[in-house]
Amino acid sequence: MNASANTAQHGKIMLVGLGPGSHDHLTVRARTAIAEADTVIGYVTYIRLVADLIEGKEVIKKSMTEELDRAIEALERARQGKKVALVSSGDAGVYGMAGPTFEVLFQAGWTPDSGIEVEIVPGASAINTCAALVGAPLTHDFCAISLSDLLTPWPTIARRLDAVAYADFVVALYNPKSGRRTQQIVEAQRLFLRHRDPQTPVAIVKSGFRPKQRIEFTTLDKMGEADIGMLSTVLIGNSNTFIKHGLMVTPRGYANKYAIEEGERNTYAGEQAGRSLSTGLSGWMATIQESGKSVAELAAEYRLPEEYIAAVLQTELPPEGEENALEG
Ligand code: SAH
Repeated sequence: MNASANTAQHGKIMLVGLGPGSHDHLTVRARTAIAEADTVIGYVTYIRLVADLIEGKEVIKKSMTEELDRAIEALERARQGKKVALVSSGDAGVYGMAGPTFEVLFQAGWTPDSGIEVEIVPGASAINTCAALVGAPLTHDFCAISLSDLLTPWPTIARRLDAVAYADFVVALYNPKSGRRTQQIVEAQRLFLRHRDPQTPVAIVKSGFRPKQRIEFTTLDKMGEADIGMLSTVLIGNSNTFIKHGLMVTPRGYANKYAIEEGERNTYAGEQAGRSLSTGLSGWMATIQESGKSVAELAAEYRLPEEYIAAVLQTELPPEGEENALEG
């Protein structure tokens, strides 16, 4: 056997994110990875999404609850020298197969140099594709929370919902509701309403970039009445997010620095292009140090822990350095 034939014996596991489910949003690498594969393993719906790319290959369809079996099967095939594509919707690393696969591999004693190569092929996750369908809701800090309590205790999920609602993140809720799990979204709404305006914009994207795509705009207080299912992603805006002409937009923050009037951009007094805001870290540190207010007063005013305020009051002001302009 020559060297190249030997190399051909080496198996490979490819974790392939298929994007939302339309061919236009399947990456070139995802396509070639599937073409390279001898075996394609995945949930029935995802296999169906790439049906025309997998003719003549071994196809193993698994149900949702068999994730570990899928990973074990992939490892078995790779040990036989096969190239295996494990396909996931969106990105395989976002609530997908990548994590369980590594867990199975590590348990089996696999290491990166053990002869079985692992490649992760990124795909556009639902948070990105659903955001693109409704406008620009993620232009400021955001996070994703899955409402699935199949593998996560509810108090963990509830604590995260409470924390991000308080911290004013834009939030994408994955796995918001299923036939059996109907109360989780109601509880999420309840936790959010403790911190957020009832009028906070909410967008629900069902089957984004698939034939049955449906987009619905609503508000936090009416979220419970919306049509939400297994194939929906719920996007909840932050306190600045608005909906205009059917588009959900979260401001980037330019309004904190510039007055934009009739196409002209004027920098507010005290602000400089390319520099932190006057309420940025150094400006804010100077403000609170000069304020003469107590730690307790400042903690209440800025909704920050007293220990943190106390530490900042003790900190020497950093010199103003050069800063890069905001990313485009
Ligand atoms: N790995 C996937 C997420 C799997 S969890 C990804 O990165 O997107 C399954 C959840 O993803 C669904 O309950 C739904 O909340 C979301 N989702 C996946 N595809 C979607 C689509 N086309 N439209 C809307 N939501 C989608």
